[in-house]
Amino acid sequence: MQHQQTIRRLRRLRQTETVRNLFKETTLTLNDLILPIFVEEEINDYQPIASMPGIFRIPEHKLPYEIERIAKAGLKSVMLFGISHHLDEIGSDTWQEKGLVARMSKACKDTVPEMLIMSDTCFCEYTSHGHCGVLGRNGVDNDATLLNLGRQAVTAANAGADFIAPSAAMDGQVSAIRDALDKAGFTATGIMSYSTKFASTLYGPFREAAGSCLIGDRKSYQMDPMNRHEAIRESLIDEQEGADVLMIKPAGAYLDIIRDIRERTQLPLAAYQVSGEFAQIKFAAKAGAINEIDVALETLGAIKRAGANLILSYFALDLAEKKHL
Ligand SMILES: [Zn+2]
Repeated sequence: MQHQQTIRRLRRLRQTETVRNLFKETTLTLNDLILPIFVEEEINDYQPIASMPGIFRIPEHKLPYEIERIAKAGLKSVMLFGISHHLDEIGSDTWQEKGLVARMSKACKDTVPEMLIMSDTCFCEYTSHGHCGVLGRNGVDNDATLLNLGRQAVTAANAGADFIAPSAAMDGQVSAIRDALDKAGFTATGIMSYSTKFASTLYGPFREAAGSCLIGDRKSYQMDPMNRHEAIRESLIDEQEGADVLMIKPAGAYLDIIRDIRERTQLPLAAYQVSGEFAQIKFAAKAGAINEIDVALETLGAIKRAGANLILSYFALDLAEKKHL
């Protein structure tokens, strides 16, 4: 039986669960996950988000309770998104000492000091037009927005945020924020940049979650999903500007980009499994087409296998509370 000697038997390493576990190349733990949460001011009750089953806008007064719950489940980090009732043309509430951005970080730190707080740093939930910065004659004014990003970052750091996470997709935002933080004495505050952020239609459910009032699109500042070289450049420039962590958003449809950037940087890499990715899995599971938890774990594992060290995911709390991880 000469041909038997030539068969390469990979099934040897798959025979039992013990063997499979021993040779598993990628593992997912709660340490890898960051939970994005939506916090709305001036509401009394949790607001369900129809396009994201199981996810709610948290009333601000419930934030301490939720942070305790998240910590108890074993998660170590959250990304804070505020839903403001104080909109203006430039999103000035974001840098008020008593504004929503500051209050969220402070409430979390006062309740669970060891919870790592990532402060999403943008303006789209605080501007009356829903864009990610100051509007000028030709759309969002890049450099005017940079100044305000610096202000917001310092306010968040002062309130206790551990990481500033700029998502405005402005050129130069990382160096502007690093400068502002350092000048204000926050040299220990990190920057996790949304360094490669695509203008994706998969953000659809988030718009409902965050109560976006945007008319038009963000294609003049977020990236074309068809561009690979530009995607790599975007992240590498943020590394040069001093980012501590890079991020690719969305994640599941951009595994090639995660891998491309992984191969070109030594920085930690995060990836954001966005609302549309979450909704696809949720609704397919609700229709009985797939198993929700299995698919959630498989997609998160794939994002990690592609090269992400950290994953932002709306599944994080459920997976933690039900002890799937
Ligand atoms: Zn924005």
